[in-house]
Amino acid sequence: MGQAVRWEKIAREWNGRYYPAKGMGMEQKVVAARDGYLAVIGTTVRDHTGVAYAAIRFPRGGTWQSLSEAITRDPAVLKALGKKDFPRGLRKRLKVEEGLLWFDRPYLLRPGPEGLAALATAFLAVLPGHVGRFDGRCEVCRSVPVAEPVLVNGAPTYLCAGCVQAGQQEEVRAERVYASRAANPALGLLTGAGAALVGGLAWAVLAVLTGRIYSAVAIGIGALVAYAVKGAMGKVNLPGQVVTALLTLAGVFAGQVFYVAHLIQSRTGSYDLPVALQVYLQILQVKPTTELATFFFALLGVALSLSGMRRPRFRSKVERI
Ligand SMILES: [Zn+2]
Repeated sequence: MGQAVRWEKIAREWNGRYYPAKGMGMEQKVVAARDGYLAVIGTTVRDHTGVAYAAIRFPRGGTWQSLSEAITRDPAVLKALGKKDFPRGLRKRLKVEEGLLWFDRPYLLRPGPEGLAALATAFLAVLPGHVGRFDGRCEVCRSVPVAEPVLVNGAPTYLCAGCVQAGQQEEVRAERVYASRAANPALGLLTGAGAALVGGLAWAVLAVLTGRIYSAVAIGIGALVAYAVKGAMGKVNLPGQVVTALLTLAGVFAGQVFYVAHLIQSRTGSYDLPVALQVYLQILQVKPTTELATFFFALLGVALSLSGMRRPRFRSKVERI
């Protein structure tokens, strides 16, 4: 039986719905309302690792703090895991917070949907002693009856149409507020330049201490500059991203010049930055290939630092189940 067929079978048994992975993606899940709870099993990527997970959403309140302990001792849960005791290594993969129980474990090739389904079913049986059930009303206004849950950023939620709309309006408003917030480009530039200088110095010191150039350090300079610019600017916008990219390159460049100055000093005894700059520019002109790796990593640093400077997302994605 193919993987998709197995997930679909569980979705049918649970009277829920299967969301297959898109393209080469690893995100697939079965979502179902069961016994007054919202159950999800599926596969996803966490910390760069493929994990299979079973998650239950339950109403806020109740004594959810005691769930973790109860789950790890529950005979049906242990049976579903095929263990006599809840393994220590898996304890930290069980996360309980108000309204959500989450368990995942890495898998290599076969996530085993039936095992996950059995585990989720065992979790469901533990819940009633600790937390309440959803009563078919909207979780936000707690008054409007909701027939079917919706997916909010992938998580099943009981939300009425009015609260969905109100939430979306609020998100649009928050987005506008962010867009109109004054940025401080001068402070961003200044702080970013300081960070690039510090990164360049660290680069040169490392090169002096080890006698080698570690191009990968350029990535660190990129991260440092992005952190500094973002913090000082107060928000992320296009000028900030451009400044970050340029300052990262400048930081690496400065680091190389510092290092060349050190090399000259070790021969002539004087630390002369203008001369070092001229020498380094000549190296770049005569043999640019020697610096390829360095600037490749600098560009990688830029790409990584920019990925850390994405604008915050304000809009939730609400889908029908
Ligand atoms: Zn509502």
